[in-house]
Amino acid sequence: MTHIRNQGMAMIVKTDAIILRSMKYGETSKILTLYTRDFGRMGVIVKGARSAKSKFGAALDIMSHSSVVMYKKEQRDLQLLTQADLIRQYRGIIDHADRLMYGFVLLDYISATVHGEEAHAELYTVLEQALSTLDSSDTTPAVVLLQYLLRLIHALGLGLDVRHCVHCRADLSHVDLQNQVTFSDSQGGFFCGSCRPCTDSNHVRRETLEALRALDGQPPMHRTTLQITTHSAKEGLQLLQGHCAFHMPEMRQVKSLHLLDLFS
Ligand SMILES: [Zn+2]
Repeated sequence: MTHIRNQGMAMIVKTDAIILRSMKYGETSKILTLYTRDFGRMGVIVKGARSAKSKFGAALDIMSHSSVVMYKKEQRDLQLLTQADLIRQYRGIIDHADRLMYGFVLLDYISATVHGEEAHAELYTVLEQALSTLDSSDTTPAVVLLQYLLRLIHALGLGLDVRHCVHCRADLSHVDLQNQVTFSDSQGGFFCGSCRPCTDSNHVRRETLEALRALDGQPPMHRTTLQITTHSAKEGLQLLQGHCAFHMPEMRQVKSLHLLDLFS
């Protein structure tokens, strides 16, 4: 039987991408890591990207959102990028030191969780919308990150219910329960006072839980102006990071989280 193979044939493809990483290569080239809407994570080489007459401009800068054209070949680690047009550069993030670190954390979560060429349109949208929201000066960076992590947890199927006791399903917004709620990453969520496991669960501040409930399941931009204390933002981020890292150990690699001003 004869198999017709198209291995070795390059296809020309066009997709939207966010630039995750960039490094110099050779005299004038660059190697980039992209997160693309249609093919997931990809490594590309861009010949002449650093030459004086490069046509790419900011389209290849880290964090840029661009439309890219590539020669794509199966079984090849680095694809050849031939064209890139800037769709959006997040100047509200890259020009503001207080937002820039948060922008890197958003990218680092994608780098840690997405390994190869596997399209995940929802995850792509979650990243793109978080960058757009962080770009706007009237949002609170820590709140944007909290909402991003909640949406990432949902998109990756790491299920976290911020409204109910994981054991008896009691509604955690019930006034009698508000001061007794604990969280355990190893046991998968929040516990009411009656169900609290003996070990391995930590008290959660009422304000933190309320913030998570207000952000969970909401569209981006909605409630991202939520007021939150540094204590609660930090507690919320640690708790969501703990949940992510328990279910996806590679999330522990997101070290940039601890470089945020919140943790200093
Ligand atoms: Zn319970």
